[in-house]
Amino acid sequence: MASDTPYLLSIDHLLDEDESLVWSNAREFTQRRLMPVIEKHYEDGTFPAELIAEFGEMGFLGATLTGYGCAEMNPVAYGLTMIELERADSGIRSFCSVQSALVMWPIHTYGTDEQKERWLPGMAKGELIGCFGLTEPNAGSDPGSMRTHAKQDGPGGDYVISGQKFWITNSPIAHVCIVWAKTLDHGSDTPVIRGFLVPRDSKGLSTPITKGKLSMRASVTGEIVLDEVRVPASAMLPGVQGLKGPLSCLTQARYGIGWGVLGAAMDCYERARRYCMDRVQFDKPLAQFQLTQHKLVEQHNAICKGLLLAYHFGRLKQHGKLSPVQVSVLKRDNVEMARDVARTARSMLGGNGIMGEFHIMRHMANLETVYTYEGTHEIHTLSIGRALTGLSAFA
Ligand SMILES: Cc1cc2nc3c(=O)[nH]c(=O)nc-3n(C[C@H](O)[C@H](O)[C@H](O)COP(=O)(O)OP(=O)(O)OC[C@H]3O[C@@H](n4cnc5c(N)ncnc54)[C@H](O)[C@@H]3O)c2cc1C
Repeated sequence: MASDTPYLLSIDHLLDEDESLVWSNAREFTQRRLMPVIEKHYEDGTFPAELIAEFGEMGFLGATLTGYGCAEMNPVAYGLTMIELERADSGIRSFCSVQSALVMWPIHTYGTDEQKERWLPGMAKGELIGCFGLTEPNAGSDPGSMRTHAKQDGPGGDYVISGQKFWITNSPIAHVCIVWAKTLDHGSDTPVIRGFLVPRDSKGLSTPITKGKLSMRASVTGEIVLDEVRVPASAMLPGVQGLKGPLSCLTQARYGIGWGVLGAAMDCYERARRYCMDRVQFDKPLAQFQLTQHKLVEQHNAICKGLLLAYHFGRLKQHGKLSPVQVSVLKRDNVEMARDVARTARSMLGGNGIMGEFHIMRHMANLETVYTYEGTHEIHTLSIGRALTGLSAFA
């Protein structure tokens, strides 16, 4: 494992040469380029946009996709890069997750050749940025209740889209917004959900920034406001309709989260361990007290189990055998684990645990968002409960 801190897991022999190289390169890059600047960006509430092109060069954008300049990583290698991005900051991993899994993946999977050629090469290089608009002020856990709608108009079959999307990662800096909206197809009177690629310069589109976040401060969040935005029929993603469209994208992104949060947990555990080795109270290093060792053991063992879960599901995904509910298990349990590890690590540093320079409080605050977005902890619990019982407790 790419770390100086002991882990009693021995995972290295399970990785091939390329996977190990991707992991150590991602680690080297994030430590060199992100760690020196992340605390300041977090404090200022800014995203390190100056590094986006380098994310592209590292292959972090659209990492698992084939063609269009993408890195064609397998799911395990991709997961390992997510670990290192989130070891730096969940907001950085979120940027790469949104661009890769929520924007490039649906264009690649559901888009036309023309849409792919127009957007994917620039996105892989980090020259173009995308965002994913599903959540609305009154439709969060229940996206099927969305109000944003697209109406066909005119002889060319243009769509006119109106509505409001809320809590949208990257929207203020995006060149294109994927907007999920209800529309009436082919004269039908039952609305279906469709995805639309809405370019930044579309008349009637605005993306006001969301201010006042105390979590994910190094990530840009905003709204997408659509006031009768007219797009050509060719802006629609033709390959999918219904909630399956956005939900299948979220399955891709949640898979990355299930790996990424391991990085936040590792950073917290490793920092807490180092601190407790050095800090002396009652004439002994904190690490020599049984209660401290108990905390370290719990953190370490939880991380090792989370990594094994991610690895196992990664290999299933590589063989096309990973189901959405298994991704719910991964997202739900690893996020909860990372959140617990971060909180315990915070307490192990005493007063210093709340300081920015020790980084743990930043992870802890970020993980509150990760617990809620891409399906809340509760919604994943309900999905898994339904799979175990055959009974839906959603509504
Ligand atoms: C920083 C940030 C970035 C985000 N980025 C994006 C993005 O890029 N694109 C996007 O579309 N969205 C994004 N989101 C939105 C995110 O996915 C939603 O916040 C999330 O889906 C929850 O919706 P909500 O906030 O409306 O909460 P609600 O749905 O109102 O839920 C509130 C609480 O009620 C619980 N609850 C809801 N229904 C049930 C039920 N049936 N049973 C039990 N409990 C229930 C929830 O679990 C939660 O605890 C982002 C959010 C944040 C905070």
